Amino acid sequence: MDVTAKLLKVYQVDRQLAGLEGRLRKAERFLGEQSRQLEALATQMQAIAGQIRQLKATSGNLENEIREFDEHIEHHRTLMGNAQTNKEYKALLVEVNTFKAERDKREEEALGLLSKIDELTAQSEELAAAHAEREKMRKVAEGERTERQGEIKDRVEELHAKRELLLKEVPAEVLLVYDELVVQLDEDAMAELEIADRRRHEYTCGSCMMGIPMEAAISLLSGKITRCPSCGCILYLTAETADVITPAEKR
Ligand SMILES: [Zn+2]
Repeated sequence: MDVTAKLLKVYQVDRQLAGLEGRLRKAERFLGEQSRQLEALATQMQAIAGQIRQLKATSGNLENEIREFDEHIEHHRTLMGNAQTNKEYKALLVEVNTFKAERDKREEEALGLLSKIDELTAQSEELAAAHAEREKMRKVAEGERTERQGEIKDRVEELHAKRELLLKEVPAEVLLVYDELVVQLDEDAMAELEIADRRRHEYTCGSCMMGIPMEAAISLLSGKITRCPSCGCILYLTAETADVITPAEKR
């Protein structure tokens, strides 16, 4: 196996490691999102519960006031029944009417509050249902995250061990170049040489899509580390491409 093929194996392991870690990160992001949504719902529910408590307290006060007015009215009606003069009767009647007006105002207010409480209670029930639904999703997300962590743990260890073995096969100066490229280009540190036109010997870089001179293709065939003149990535040949570009007499 030539040096490019050996390095390609390291690269492939690195891609697998990045893929596994990417899946875990995705699962973690999803779980975080569910937790944030749950918190937001809980905050809304608390706010509404607070409003309902306040409205109920106000409504309770109004009920008390209404009861007091009722007592006053009843008391004055008794007084009216015992009135000695027409003047006294009329004065009591004015008072009763004033009490009644005040009482009705409070009753109207209390009814308004009750309908507001009903509205908020319905909202609170909707939120509770949404919260329960979201909680289910959060559990699923948590399960997925735990599963990914488990998957990753064994697989990552396995891949690291494999990587260690593969590294021994690659010359140090090549690894130095590769490591720098991974920092700069990440997953584009290596790319496949692609055939643009077989008969005209036109090739392109699988990463940046720029043209690759024929000499580079020949250098790759001999297994030498060959970089794309445009993006700088290390090129490699797939078995299929190597087969296609190998001169007929060498096959
Ligand atoms: Zn390139």
